Amino acid sequence: LERTFIAIKPDGVQRGLISDIIARFEKKGYKLVAIKLVHPTKDFAEKHYDDLKGRPFFNGLTDFLSSGPVVAMVPPPPPSQSMSNHTADPQVWEGQGVIKYGRKFIGATAPLASEPGTIRGDFAISVGRNIIHGSDGPETAKDEIALWFKPEEIL
Ligand code: ATP
Ligand code: MG
Repeated sequence: LERTFIAIKPDGVQRGLISDIIARFEKKGYKLVAIKLVHPTKDFAEKHYDDLKGRPFFNGLTDFLSSGPVVAMVPPPPPSQSMSNHTADPQVWEGQGVIKYGRKFIGATAPLASEPGTIRGDFAISVGRNIIHGSDGPETAKDEIALWFKPEEIL
């Protein structure tokens, strides 16, 4: 079963956007399999964004992620029944993948390039304060879920 890792970053939590963001995933038909409120350490934030080590914004980014509580979540795809209805159409199948869909839902990295209707498009202006994180592929999803959750925390 395809899974992704979603996190509401400290700015999203501080601005009171937890319920709105969770509601969007729920209303689309995704169901949570894991959720918790965590305040990541700087060291943990560096592990999470370890692929961006060396970028000029790495220090600010990891300071920010470790600046307050984060809502860490794993929503799985909708029931397999709805997916098997569409397996003949590769576009629909792709559109139903939770990783790609989650990224679309979140919007572009820079909020000013995000479409209205996306989470970043609706709620953010600054690339350094862009509300939410979503895994960018199956391998990162696997690694991030393993970094943030113990197996017994995933239902
Ligand atoms: P995320 O991984 O947080 O979901 P993303 O996958 O859209 O975001 P990445 O390229 O992985 O984008 O960058 C991780 C985070 O680093 C971004 O969400 C953003 O907050 C920050 N970031 C990316 N590029 C820049 C930049 N040019 N200047 C400042 N911050 C940046
Ligand atoms: Mg990313």
